[in-house]
Amino acid sequence: MSIADNLIAIKKETDQNNVTLVVVSKTKPNQDIMEAYDAGQRIFGENQVQELVEKHEALPKDIEWHLIGHLQTNKVKYIAPFISMIHSVDSIKLLQEINKQAIKADRVIDCLLQIYIADEETKYGLSFDEAIELLRSDEFAELKNIRIRGLMGIATNTDNEKQIKEEFYELDTFFDGIKQSYFRKEDSFDELSMGMSSDYHIAIEQNSTMVRIGSTIFGARQYPDQNLLN
Ligand SMILES: *Cc1c(COP(=O)(O)O)cnc(C)c1O
Repeated sequence: MSIADNLIAIKKETDQNNVTLVVVSKTKPNQDIMEAYDAGQRIFGENQVQELVEKHEALPKDIEWHLIGHLQTNKVKYIAPFISMIHSVDSIKLLQEINKQAIKADRVIDCLLQIYIADEETKYGLSFDEAIELLRSDEFAELKNIRIRGLMGIATNTDNEKQIKEEFYELDTFFDGIKQSYFRKEDSFDELSMGMSSDYHIAIEQNSTMVRIGSTIFGARQYPDQNLLN
């Protein structure tokens, strides 16, 4: 199947469930992205700042770019003028820098707090306790040019569907609690970004509102060095 065919098939599923599809285009050439674009897709996700900036410059300006990978504070300035959503906020320090650069760009930047739910050493993210501490902090209360739109999580990379389901269930439950406690009056706190190619069906069952899908649409990624996987 072509990229367009794959996209249309997945888009049908996500539309039926009222879920936003973020097409993950990392490592893929602009030509592949344009094939998805021409099939109607406008939301794309990248995990590296430099690649994201290059693609933003080269590709149509009505694309909404989402940053889904770990973000270093010193790179925020490169994406602040145009980024649609940052899924990977994992510290107050990073959030303060995003706010600072958003002020410079005269805009409000939509962010998700990345929550650590996987049973793995390597994944970034806040623990449940750290997320609560961040939201309660005075530093957070001062930030006016960021808007927390919800939470993001990455499940363990495993074939154990029960485990994946439990991790997504916990994140969904945490999302509801956070909304009740800290965002009750803010309708804009409404996004739960969870699910990728291998587990998006499970994520949608567990109330995901946003899935991030790459390889099912574009085919497997090729890395020069296998250590760079993910
Ligand atoms: C690469 C990546 C994805 C997409 O992974 P696929 O398995 O290709 O669908 C989703 N989320 C994040 C954070 C990623 O880095």
